[in-house]
Amino acid sequence: MKPDQLHIWECTSISEINKLMKLQFNMNACKNEIIINDKNIIVEYKDKSLSELKLTLRNLIFELSDLNIEFVALNMNDELLKELGLQNFKDIYNDCHKIIEKDRYLNILLYEPPKEIKCKNEMLRLINHYHSTLYGGHCGINKCIKKLKQKYVWKNMNKMVKNYINNCQNAPNQK
Ligand SMILES: [Zn+2]
Repeated sequence: MKPDQLHIWECTSISEINKLMKLQFNMNACKNEIIINDKNIIVEYKDKSLSELKLTLRNLIFELSDLNIEFVALNMNDELLKELGLQNFKDIYNDCHKIIEKDRYLNILLYEPPKEIKCKNEMLRLINHYHSTLYGGHCGINKCIKKLKQKYVWKNMNKMVKNYINNCQNAPNQK
């Protein structure tokens, strides 16, 4: 994790968000509501005015701090971020905290979801990059998979990486 602004962080590893509840803004809702289930917090709001948004975010901070939730994860591609722009969202969100008591806060961890790869050549190019280049350093299978999964996802990735590395000529002793 690296600090960005007061209550918004950008995560550097997808594993950081695994245990967190995911926050999602639904802008096409017909009523203003915060829905909390086991893994997700869905914030629905119909009024797109700035003052209504501030009120909604303020309620969110209140509700989650009551539940002792300090961190939630938000997809960088969330509808709200796209609509507002990241910087505006950060500013508005930090403003919300200024009018709330100091012991109530909710940190948002922004994450980039892994990109789905469908082209086989691209998969091989990525494995090559993450394994065979100077950057890859002929790393082992698990390390290579771990690095790839930070940014990409595809079917049978594990098997493909295993085959690739087992057949790599440069360092025959690696496992
Ligand atoms: Zn190798």
